[in-house]
Amino acid sequence: MAWYSDRVKVKESTNVDKFNKIWKPGENPVWAGIYRCQSCGYEDVINRECTKLPPCSNCEKKNHKNNNWKLLVRAEDAE
Ligand SMILES: [Zn+2]
Repeated sequence: MAWYSDRVKVKESTNVDKFNKIWKPGENPVWAGIYRCQSCGYEDVINRECTKLPPCSNCEKKNHKNNNWKLLVRAEDAE
């Protein structure tokens, strides 16, 4: 569960496809933001320089393999 306090600067998206897409570690993420592991729920920040999504570090700790990610919060691009 991600948290925020500024309701003006964080808004709900109507583009559900963007947030329903499943991403695998190694894939090039199109959007910077917070991604959520679909195996354990761990959330991690992916910046604009990232070209390969990492494996979930929380799953690695527990020896779970083959996690997937979903975009949870997308960072706004520069205007
Ligand atoms: Zn995980």
